[in-house]
Amino acid sequence: YKPIHVIGGGLAGSEAAWQIANAGVPVILHEMRPVRKTDAHHTEGLAELVCSNSFRSDDTENNAVGLLHEEMRRMNSLIMDAAAKTKVPAGSALAVDRDDFSKTVTETLENHPLITIERGEIDGLPPKEWDKVIVATGPLTSPALSEAVLELCGEDGLAFFDAIAPIVYKDSIDFETAWYQSRYDKGDGADYINLPMNKEQYEEFIHDLNTGEKADFKQWEKDTPYFEGCMPIEVMAERGPETLRFGPMKPVGLQSPHTNEQSYAVVQLRQDNKFGTLYNMVGFQTKLTYGEQTRIFKKIPGLENARFARLGGLHRNTFINSPLVLDDLMRMKADPRLRFAGQITGVEGYVESAAMGLMAGLFTALERKGQIPVAPPVTTAFGALIHHITGGADAKTFQPMNVNFGLFPPIEGRMKKKDRKPAKSARALTDLAAWKEKLDL
Ligand code: FAD
Repeated sequence: YKPIHVIGGGLAGSEAAWQIANAGVPVILHEMRPVRKTDAHHTEGLAELVCSNSFRSDDTENNAVGLLHEEMRRMNSLIMDAAAKTKVPAGSALAVDRDDFSKTVTETLENHPLITIERGEIDGLPPKEWDKVIVATGPLTSPALSEAVLELCGEDGLAFFDAIAPIVYKDSIDFETAWYQSRYDKGDGADYINLPMNKEQYEEFIHDLNTGEKADFKQWEKDTPYFEGCMPIEVMAERGPETLRFGPMKPVGLQSPHTNEQSYAVVQLRQDNKFGTLYNMVGFQTKLTYGEQTRIFKKIPGLENARFARLGGLHRNTFINSPLVLDDLMRMKADPRLRFAGQITGVEGYVESAAMGLMAGLFTALERKGQIPVAPPVTTAFGALIHHITGGADAKTFQPMNVNFGLFPPIEGRMKKKDRKPAKSARALTDLAAWKEKLDL
């Protein structure tokens, strides 16, 4: 077969190259390090972990990332195999010795007869002769390639940093306090979930934002000016005590049916996925530490028992607006020979990035062999992530996402809360097995 080119030898690109080669198709893996460095990588190893050495929870039954681990293992994942070989004690989490892990991945790929590793930056769109390419250049994609992608997919198609508002599981919101309503009853009239605050609660909230512990800004983050629309909530609060009440927390046009009164301030939550299981806190992107976010946001009336599918953040992060620019098999609509994988597709995390690399590698190899790939069902962790980034999420508010059970279709019928996650996991593994049966590699 003609080789497939993979750009970027990180978590996603390494996994993609492995899957392609194991399907019997040659791969050329292009990694720019050490010729060109990034702000976060320190070595020239493939699949370098730039920060924590943890792949998070390994609990397959109760945690969506643990389920994703298991699905990847069942798909012969290089990243999961290297993690198993280089594991360090970490309770119920899966953590690795980062140097051994990267060395294991690098040597495995170097020793594969169908894989060629070329060191050097791809500094624009790949040459036309490369008919099948996977772009897996990550959150720190080099500027020259980012510019080329920007030109291809337009300004709405690529972001250079994320501004993540916390996302709440709807079933953990207290609807004795919360209510559905759009401001001035516009649109459907009930598109938002609203949480009321009185004057005292609002003042305490502003105080908490001003004094809460925040993560440090890195130099390159300071160099990136905020767009007004993505300013962290605590920066808005710093501008004056009324700024939020006249901004994202304005109470006008909203009235609680529980009290029939207008509140002093209102927190609005907007639906975040098609299934309606996740809601994001509008305007609440933040650099508060995770512990502080949980402490402060749980004081908001209606969120006392909230569970967060993800907490807020603001980072330098190059990612495409996948729901807008990718088709449902992760190919760029404007140039379908390019398939995207990893963090650049708007998933978040080592494991999610590697998982998208696994799928991109598999799909591209199948195409090279003349087949039409079919994505795993949305009931699997792989399928739920692909579905989310390629259409389940709203392109207008798209921000990077970790895997979580809110991305999966709800389980039919009544079930105790504690049984829901294990039931989703069991369904996922059964459905993955059925899908895998039909694969013809
Ligand atoms: P990467 O692993 O970054 O791989 C991309 C590769 O492409 C790199 O090796 C890069 O050198 C190369 N490259 C870039 N441009 C080009 C080019 N033009 N030509 C050739 N090669 C190119 N996730 C977690 O789960 N836990 C964490 O603790 C964590 N910490 C993070 C800290 C920082 C500072 C950042 C930026 C991200 C962090 N992430 C973390 C998020 C994310 O999961 C990781 O960045 C992950 O490595 C993404 O995998 P990837 O394969 O998409 O990208």
